[in-house]
Amino acid sequence: MDADQIEQLIAASDLPSLLAALAHATGDPGLVPGGLWLDPDLALQPEGGWDQEQLGRARELAVSGLQKLTAPESGEDAPDDALVPELIDWLTGADLDDGYRRMLAEELAVTGDMRIPEPITAGDWPAANTRDHAVAVIGAGMSGILAAHRLEQAGIDCVVLDKNGDVGGTWLENTYPGCRVDVFNHVYSYSGEQRPDWPEYHSSQPVLLDYFRDCARRWGIRDRIRFDVQVDSLAWDDATCRWVIRLETSSGPEDITAGAVVSAVGQLNRPLMPDIEGVDSFVGEQFHSSAWRHDIDWQDLRVAVIGTGASALQFIPHLAEAAAHVTVFQRTPPWLIPRPVYHEPLAAGLLRLFELVPGYAHWFRLRLFWCTHEGTVGALRRDPAWDGPLDQAVSRRNEETRKLLTMYLEHQFGDRPDLLAKVVPDYPVGAKRVVLDNGIWARTLKRPNVELVSGGIERVEPDGVRGADGRLHPADLVVYGTGFRASEFLMPMRVTGRDGDDLHETWNGDARAYNGVCVPGFPNLFCLYGPNTNIVVNGSIIYFAECAAHYVVECMRLLAERGATAMDCRPDAYERYAALMDEHNSQMAWGISPVNSWYKSPSGGVAQNWPLPLVDYWRQTRRPDPADFELIEPAGRA
Ligand SMILES: Cc1cc2nc3c(=O)[nH]c(=O)nc-3n(C[C@H](O)[C@H](O)[C@H](O)COP(=O)(O)OP(=O)(O)OC[C@H]3O[C@@H](n4cnc5c(N)ncnc54)[C@H](O)[C@@H]3O)c2cc1C
Repeated sequence: MDADQIEQLIAASDLPSLLAALAHATGDPGLVPGGLWLDPDLALQPEGGWDQEQLGRARELAVSGLQKLTAPESGEDAPDDALVPELIDWLTGADLDDGYRRMLAEELAVTGDMRIPEPITAGDWPAANTRDHAVAVIGAGMSGILAAHRLEQAGIDCVVLDKNGDVGGTWLENTYPGCRVDVFNHVYSYSGEQRPDWPEYHSSQPVLLDYFRDCARRWGIRDRIRFDVQVDSLAWDDATCRWVIRLETSSGPEDITAGAVVSAVGQLNRPLMPDIEGVDSFVGEQFHSSAWRHDIDWQDLRVAVIGTGASALQFIPHLAEAAAHVTVFQRTPPWLIPRPVYHEPLAAGLLRLFELVPGYAHWFRLRLFWCTHEGTVGALRRDPAWDGPLDQAVSRRNEETRKLLTMYLEHQFGDRPDLLAKVVPDYPVGAKRVVLDNGIWARTLKRPNVELVSGGIERVEPDGVRGADGRLHPADLVVYGTGFRASEFLMPMRVTGRDGDDLHETWNGDARAYNGVCVPGFPNLFCLYGPNTNIVVNGSIIYFAECAAHYVVECMRLLAERGATAMDCRPDAYERYAALMDEHNSQMAWGISPVNSWYKSPSGGVAQNWPLPLVDYWRQTRRPDPADFELIEPAGRA
């Protein structure tokens, strides 16, 4: 490769992660010298805040690393795995402890999947020896297929049950135009199943669906999945210490039993239809974004869209391109985060480097993980010293972010003061879900066939939607971008535990789970993407599913080690954990601001979000603490 070609490739690279990858691949720590230490406070900036001189030095090092790697005699070089911890320290620029470094090494997975569980001697867990299943996993979305994979790796038999006809959950059901992942795709993927060649930085729904299908196939778990069966109820049987699972199948109801249940039913799987008067009176077609009607051609139709959340901002631009008119009803505007590469294909040079430099895609993922995860969430945490109005910002950093994002909106809508007045949020950044933008929202709202209505809705009428100002907006089609019933965990299943207790009555509208996984009185019921495991700006839900799936396997290991049948979380551990979540969520923008958002339960509490550093969830899900559980046996076998 000549010097020009190398220069071009380097121009397309993320330099810090390229240097780390080159140092690893060539075994040369000189490629990441101390003089190029990355400043963690500047982690979000390109090249970590290096000045021109440092940048020049970094490019020279990258050239020499690439020359070394591509030289004819380089076949002798093998990656030096012993360098990995040092390179992680260098790439993060942070003073990491061993646990943190280990978590990042697992995310990096440059030496292979580091989260494969040690096999459990299943015979030691009594529940594994009976007829039917050791474990039933409900849901074959991202979380469910991962749980089945980890259980299978640990040697535990399981069946996966899904109401749908295929895997993918969110990415199977949400087929609306424009649907794409808003976490960088290199991060939104399993650590042990990384894919370097994502077509886009934020790939679209069909690509995501293919990825999850592919994982299920490669993991060999498709034949463990029973598709098109809905779980209606779960009932714990004290006598046998098993769950009795009532299924709704095409041939009628069926009961199966399992020693444990993993609920992987998602937080965003049940659409929320708004409680607006007159919805049923509308004479045209109407549907929710998660059940997109591809048989309806909206060309030349007058469309009313209710909602301006993350999904709506993805599909409205597509509607606007062909519809005669689009009226957008906005309750609260979202904060927009500029992301110029939001719809962009991965740079060709970057893809070429992923091929050329072994492990580069992994180091690239790690850098994105670090920069976009812990790097941003600090701006959403309350600073007790902050004396500004809390309804606008919760800290100086939050206020600075607010100013920056306001400037972005002013830049985007400066020529349309009428729109600008409607699109600048009046709540702190992070109190609601932020939405990525590459300028498409302003372009869409400025179209002559689009109107943004922000004053509220009075009712839906046969011919359209009447705004709170009394004006009727005629419509042939209404699309609801109104989100999901996020606070109604595990609904609409009826779940009865020990002593016949009903899970939803126990929760009373404020779902909680110890470690996001266990609820007292419901032995051997483990939740993935459970209460307080959603994240707002810092990361992907896959990280949480990986931690929780590991925890579930470790719970089963504990049972096997103790020769116990079931484990029930102790109420004091549950309460302590819920108090911890409340304490920290009350210090986050989403916990402080009264603005409406799906991050809150009807009680006003935050049962959805994780408020602490990501690594804390990893730490607390390493091993179950036996002191926090009661080990139980079938009645009469105590
Ligand atoms: C439009 C959209 C965009 C998103 N973008 C992102 C993003 O960019 N980054 C991110 O981290 N997260 C994103 N999310 C969150 C997303 O839900 C998670 O990332 C992830 O897909 C959740 O996977 P899951 O398996 O836990 O749940 P789901 O994907 O919701 O899967 C749940 C599965 O359980 C099944 N199920 C539910 N109830 C039953 C029952 N009673 N019986 C049988 N089967 C049942 C469902 O059919 C489904 O297959 C997005 C969500 C949506 C809706």
